[in-house]
Amino acid sequence: MSDFEARLAATKATLEEIAAEFTPAVFASSLAAEDMVLTDLILRNQLNIGIFSLETGRLHAETLGMLDAVKNTYGTAITLFKPEAAAVDAYVQQHGLNAFYDSVEMRKECCRIRKVEPLNRALAGNKAWVTGQRRAQAATRTELAVQEDDIAHGMQKFNPLADWSEEDVWHYIRSNQVPYNPLHDKGYPSIGCEPCTRAIQPGEDVRAGRWWWENPESKECGLHVVDGKLIRIKSAN
Ligand code: SF4
Repeated sequence: MSDFEARLAATKATLEEIAAEFTPAVFASSLAAEDMVLTDLILRNQLNIGIFSLETGRLHAETLGMLDAVKNTYGTAITLFKPEAAAVDAYVQQHGLNAFYDSVEMRKECCRIRKVEPLNRALAGNKAWVTGQRRAQAATRTELAVQEDDIAHGMQKFNPLADWSEEDVWHYIRSNQVPYNPLHDKGYPSIGCEPCTRAIQPGEDVRAGRWWWENPESKECGLHVVDGKLIRIKSAN
């Protein structure tokens, strides 16, 4: 068995364990390449793990197009969670539509309204959640474990692709004809909201296109933050 096959087998085993022992469980898909790998594994194997996305209201058309691609390929619709309209309106009226460029605080407040609050709603009532995060993606993810005790949400958090490389992800996608966001072919290894994501040059860090006006240590959306600080919680195992 190759190293890749061993990682794939371990990932499948993790997903099967989640589906069997942590129901209800949900997968938070950003519709990026890693998330399409997990979507494919979950839906092709009919694993009992729900899939949702956060429709922030600021996504690229190409990213929204992935919702149709998933429906057409697997016959399953991804559940969408959207921000509270009143909170979005208040932020825009008070600070402006693109105030996230003004300071880290304004950026985190926008992420709180458009991502963190909807995420908390999406996770409520579940025993575990799954992400497509990988250690190699960012300076803030070097200690990422496959399983974490997510104290903030009161549940287990699984990162089944934690030790996958970017090459692993694309090998799986191409080998299994998995649909993927066309922005990945245009210099976007990491894709978030349209105004906060840009293409990168060859050799640049994969997260260099996300919140590029901030320091690397600030570059998380708050989804994996506790009490306003970046905290990597060690594996429960
Ligand atoms: S990524 Fe940008 S647009 Fe999206 S929620 Fe965060 S600050 Fe707002």
